[in-house]
Amino acid sequence: MSATKIIHSIPSDPLTGAISVPVYQTSTFIQEAPGVNKGFDYARSNNPTRKVLEDVVAQLEAGHSGFAFSTGLAAIDAVLKLLTHGDEIVAVDDIYGGAYRLFTHVYEKLGVKINYVDTTNPDNVANAISSKTKLIWIESPTNPTLKVSDIQEIAKIAKSIGAYLVVDNTFASPIAQQPLKLGADIVIHSGTKYIGGHSDLVAGLVVTKTPELSEKIKFVQNASGGVLGPWDCFLTIRGIETLELRYKKQCENAFAVAAFLVNHPAVQDVYFPGLVTHKNHEIAKRQQNGLFGGIVSFSLKEDTQEAANQFVTSTNYFKLAESLGGVKSLLCHPPQMTHASVPRERRLQAGIKDSLIRLSCGIEDAEDLITDLSKAFAAVKTTRNYVKQ
Ligand SMILES: *Cc1c(COP(=O)(O)O)cnc(C)c1O
Repeated sequence: MSATKIIHSIPSDPLTGAISVPVYQTSTFIQEAPGVNKGFDYARSNNPTRKVLEDVVAQLEAGHSGFAFSTGLAAIDAVLKLLTHGDEIVAVDDIYGGAYRLFTHVYEKLGVKINYVDTTNPDNVANAISSKTKLIWIESPTNPTLKVSDIQEIAKIAKSIGAYLVVDNTFASPIAQQPLKLGADIVIHSGTKYIGGHSDLVAGLVVTKTPELSEKIKFVQNASGGVLGPWDCFLTIRGIETLELRYKKQCENAFAVAAFLVNHPAVQDVYFPGLVTHKNHEIAKRQQNGLFGGIVSFSLKEDTQEAANQFVTSTNYFKLAESLGGVKSLLCHPPQMTHASVPRERRLQAGIKDSLIRLSCGIEDAEDLITDLSKAFAAVKTTRNYVKQ
């Protein structure tokens, strides 16, 4: 979707002409007579500020309807509520940790079976499905090793058994990838990340392809009630105004950072789908509109937590924090942070080495980010030499 279209999909206020979207901070709406209203009756069911966000997100993802939730996990939870006892999910094996927790520790207890497979090879998906499979759940690219799955191929498999394909599109953003156009049925986002884009809110979004699915999600949204408040809807809309500009700059910075890391003597592996050496580069190139995202992960030659610790505490512009996608660059050490709850064995199997570091590139100047990383490498080296003496 072009920048022009995105910006002009955000309406001005029809009532007053206000160019920015008003924050309708209200719980209820006056009715002329019972059931006679202006399209809004209670703010859990609907709110005019939320409606603008939901409509804009539906357009961003080329879907039928959008739905805004209090967090990304609340959005995921709403989709899982389409299932019932005995249903099965086939899911990407290095799924977001919070989604893993919800799937395994909440839904499995309720009788939903989850089958985790490496979805970068569609054959693994085809082998894992059964007549009970109702959802195929992928992320592309994944966190933190940026594996890319072929959405079109997996959509065909889902269609063949009448299951829904759900794509967590948080990392690619709708700027790089529109999964519904590639055959997916539902897209979810952690709006906390690129869509919000300023590290100032948590939010979740669902976009559905068909009126039938929209009705189902709308029912769950109203029934369970995990909606996004009007002020955070306003901030998310404001974030979307610059989404294209931010995301492209972040991709550019990530490209420059990845090129720097590949040539650095202290670096072992670099994970970035834009590199021709990345396992899934070809499919990423085809599927992601020439944009490879703003996240770069890498491991150190000295593959220890201590070396990684020294690195992540030696940067200036890259701030040590969970989350990603904001205008300020962040870095984290997944084994001790986002993936601390995953046992070491499982982490190593998923390619998450002890020294793996994840960078979320912001919109600073690429030269400054590279200088920052250079200084951190130098700091690690100095400290390590000192320690060894
Ligand atoms: C952060 C994240 C989520 C969860 O979103 P919250 O807003 O933190 O609840 C889900 N999927 C991915 C890929 C994420 O990065």
